[in-house]
Amino acid sequence: MVARRIIGAVAESLQLEAHEVVTTSSIGITVFPQDARSADELLRNSDIALQHAKQNGKNGFTFFDAAMNAAALRRMALEMALRAALEKNELQLHYQPQIDLHSNRIIAAEALLRWQTPELGAVSPAEFIPVAEDTGLIVPIGAWVLRTACRQAVDWLADGRPLQRIAVNVSVRQFSQPDFVASVVATLRETGLDPAALELEITESVLMAQADAAVKTLAALKRIGVQLAIDDFGTGYSSLAYLKQFPIDRLKIDRTFVQGLENNVQDAAIVNSVIAMARSLGLEVTAEGVELPDQLAFLRDSACHDAQGFLLGKPVPPEQLSALLA
Ligand code: C2E
Ligand code: MG
Ligand code: MG
Repeated sequence: MVARRIIGAVAESLQLEAHEVVTTSSIGITVFPQDARSADELLRNSDIALQHAKQNGKNGFTFFDAAMNAAALRRMALEMALRAALEKNELQLHYQPQIDLHSNRIIAAEALLRWQTPELGAVSPAEFIPVAEDTGLIVPIGAWVLRTACRQAVDWLADGRPLQRIAVNVSVRQFSQPDFVASVVATLRETGLDPAALELEITESVLMAQADAAVKTLAALKRIGVQLAIDDFGTGYSSLAYLKQFPIDRLKIDRTFVQGLENNVQDAAIVNSVIAMARSLGLEVTAEGVELPDQLAFLRDSACHDAQGFLLGKPVPPEQLSALLA
C-alpha cells in the first residue's frame, strides 16, 4: 500500500512554466529480516528487485525473492567468466550445414558460437549472447567469430570443398558500431576470403530498430560484395516498406513457423506466403529448424531454396563439417 501511494504521489503531474511534466517511478522492496540481515545485503536486494520492477514495465513495484538473487548471481558469474573466455580459448565455432533443396547438397554453413568453461560447463548462446550484448563483450567476441569463420572458409575452399558461402551472425551492438563495415573489410582482406562467400545474418528486430541507419549500413556492406540475410524472419516487427529498401539477398524463415507446419494451417500459409513473397522480390529463402521429413517435403513443394535443421545436419565442430563436405 505504501509503495502504491508513493508511486501515485510521484505520478502527479507538475506544471513547469508552460509544460506539464509527468514522472514515473519504480520501486524495489526487500524485507528485513527474512531476506537479509545486513544493511549492505538489504540494499543490494532492493536494487535487484528494482531492476526487475523496471523490466516489468515502469511505474510499479516488485518484492525481492531468492530466485532473483540466484539469477543475478548466475549473470554475474557468466559476465566474469565471459570476460576471460576469449583469452582462455574457451570459445569455439560449430558449423551447421545448409542444404540446397534442388541439388540436395550442402552449399553453405552457418557458424554458431559454443562456449565451454571448466567452472560453468557448456553455456548456451541463448544465455550468454545477451550478456555479451549488454556488456559490450559481443564486439571483440563477434570480431573473433568473423575472423575464425572466414579463415575456416578459406581453408575449406583451398581444399576444394564445395562451399558457396559461410554464414555469420551479427548482433545489434556489432552492427551499430560506427566502424563495423570497416572491420568486415579488414577481416576479409586479412583472411583473403572472397566477399561473395561471406553471408552476414542480421535479425529483423535489429534492422527495424534503426531502419534508416540500417539501410545505409546494409548498402555499404552490399558495396563490398558480401551477402546479406535477415535471420529469424517473421518473429519481429517487419515493415514491408523497409523490406523493399533493404538491399538483402536472403530471408531465413524462423523455425517456429517450420515447426508448426504439420499441425498448424496458419503456419503453413505463412511459410508459403513468405516463400512466394521472397521469390517475387528476387530474394532467396532458407527455412530454419527442419526436424521432420514431412516438413522437408512441404518446403520442397513450396519451392523453398535452402533448408537447415537437425534433420539435415546439427551444428558440428569444423572437422566434422569438413568430412560432410568431402
Ligand atoms: P540462429 O542464428 O537463428 O541459429 C539457429 C539456432 O537454431 C542455433 O541455435 C541452432 O543450433 C538451432 N537449430 C538449428 N536447427 C535446429 C532444429 O532443427 N531444431 C531446433 N530446435 N533448433 C535448431 P544456437 O546455436 O543455440 O544459437 C542460438 C542463437 O544464438 C542463434 O540463433 C543466434 O541468434 C545466436 N548466436 C549463435 N552464434 C552467434 C554468434 O556467433 N554471434 C551472434 N551475434 N549470435 C550468435
Ligand atoms: Mg543465424
Ligand atoms: Mg535464426
